[in-house]
Amino acid sequence: SNANLLLNVNGIKVIYNHVILVLKGVSLQVREGSIVALLGGNGAGKTTTLRAISNLLEGERGEVTKGAIELRGERIEKLSTAQMVERGVVQVMEGRHCFAHLSIEENLLTGAYTRKDGKAAVATTLEKVYSYFPRLKTRRGSQAAYTSGGEQQMCAIGRALMANPRMVLLDEPSMGLAPQIVAEVFEIVKDLNAREGVTFLLAEQNTGMALRYADYGYILESGRVVLDGEAHALRENEDVKEFYLGTG
Ligand code: ATP
Repeated sequence: SNANLLLNVNGIKVIYNHVILVLKGVSLQVREGSIVALLGGNGAGKTTTLRAISNLLEGERGEVTKGAIELRGERIEKLSTAQMVERGVVQVMEGRHCFAHLSIEENLLTGAYTRKDGKAAVATTLEKVYSYFPRLKTRRGSQAAYTSGGEQQMCAIGRALMANPRMVLLDEPSMGLAPQIVAEVFEIVKDLNAREGVTFLLAEQNTGMALRYADYGYILESGRVVLDGEAHALRENEDVKEFYLGTG
């Protein structure tokens, strides 16, 4: 059934600088309350897909030239990033993008800027974020520049959560992090999904880790989906094992 379909990306093409065709007709679906992994190597088009969904292409001189993107049945290609946040969709960009000169807590609070439900509600969300990220609570007064890579990634995710999203687009959360910290971040994603019902669409090159935590996965190669399926099925797929997990 389509009843719990949250996001429907249907055959999108994306072009940068009017000439470079990067997505050649990508389709994917995300069910409400699921964790979906967008997999593929360097330059496959993962980031571009996330940018298309959250409308961050314009700043990159990119545009969706074909296809449709629907959130709960509503076409969203023409919405601004702020309008996407209003509809409960936020993106955590690759490379973390914490404000280096702000404290962890100040960074988190910037994530609540679009909210109109008052200070008390924001304070409640802040405590909730700290309950998921106890490390951030410990480091709340530290300038982000002086925190670890893992803490900065957690800060970036925490800041996105301050908008009270229903869906988080997470770009390469594992990038540059030690394996143990990657596992810690993925555990928190799983918890947020299970306990708060937050839906995640995450782009990852770390196929093994992503498929351990996701419900469903899509594999992109050169701007096309070449394979998709339940995460457990992809983990057992011979091509995935050989080319993406290195266990084939
Ligand atoms: P990565 O893990 O390296 O981010 P990716 O799968 O996310 O890879 P994209 O970042 O979406 O891939 O890039 C897909 C292709 O689009 C690459 O060939 C890249 O060089 C190109 N590209 C990305 N951003 C732009 C841009 N702003 N202008 C022109 N080309 C771009």
